[in-house]
Amino acid sequence: MTVFLCCTCGTSYPDVSRQPERCPICEDERQFIPTLGQAWISRDALASTHRNAWRRHEPDLLSLQTVPAFAIDQRAFLLRTPEGNILWDCIALLDAATEDLVRGLGGLSMIAISHPHYYTAMQDWAAAFDAPIYLHAADRDWVMRPSPHARFWDSETLELGSAVTLIRTGGHFAGGTVLHWSSTADGAGALLVGDIVQVAPGARTVSFMWSYPNMMPLPGAEIRQIASRLAPLGYDRIYGAFAGQEVAQGGPAIVARSAARYVELLERGGPGYPAGPGKEGSLENRQAPDEGGRIPSRAKPGILEEPEAETGYRSVKRPGNDRL
Ligand SMILES: [Zn+2]
Ligand SMILES: [Zn+2]
Repeated sequence: MTVFLCCTCGTSYPDVSRQPERCPICEDERQFIPTLGQAWISRDALASTHRNAWRRHEPDLLSLQTVPAFAIDQRAFLLRTPEGNILWDCIALLDAATEDLVRGLGGLSMIAISHPHYYTAMQDWAAAFDAPIYLHAADRDWVMRPSPHARFWDSETLELGSAVTLIRTGGHFAGGTVLHWSSTADGAGALLVGDIVQVAPGARTVSFMWSYPNMMPLPGAEIRQIASRLAPLGYDRIYGAFAGQEVAQGGPAIVARSAARYVELLERGGPGYPAGPGKEGSLENRQAPDEGGRIPSRAKPGILEEPEAETGYRSVKRPGNDRL
């Protein structure tokens, strides 16, 4: 019997004698099936051809990532907390070297995962360290390989210790979750976001998508919800799912501004759209959300506005509509 992993998303499947025929995670429109078709690798074969590389971001925060790149190529984080080590998000490879190193750091007390794309081989990590896996119940149906260590939580927040809280934001997945960590070395706090919040190149903006590989956006209402759930949190830095995705400072302002601009473009095109270089297209020129992180609500495209005196109703047109 063999545990197979999907080469495209890294999801592991239950012990079988033959490789699985389908990967429902990749068949979903938030992932994709490669043009050459689905491919599989056994857990043992992955361990013989790949290894994990570590990076220390600050004294109590390390990340690890499989090299050469495998599947989605996300990183996982190990947070050192007074309540023990927490693995945030997960990767498909748990080889003997990684297991030894994590044991040397004190093992794992808990595992928490932002959304199903990073469930990968969480079952193996949980079994090796006898650690519970905290998954939001809204995404329960996406668990492809059961684990006795899975703990499904169904509230909007979950405290994992004195300095770590999970916040369900929804968005990319109904149970999409970020991790708030208050005891960073400088005390400013950090947000670990998986790809629920995507740190964009340059780290001056973030984004939020229904499907990243298929470039499908989220509705404005979902963006407002994410922004409002993150607004009350105290943090400065943001750590994203992929190497180099770090907002070094000013995270809350970047999230609020990016969310406001997203909604503006999605629903109205925004004043000045399309804009030339250095004109109103610059994100910095955008109106900031109010103090509570709320983004102004706007008329939806195609909805009738208030009646105009004398002339009756008129419909609102959005720039670019005619091109479709
Ligand atoms: Zn897959
Ligand atoms: Zn994802």
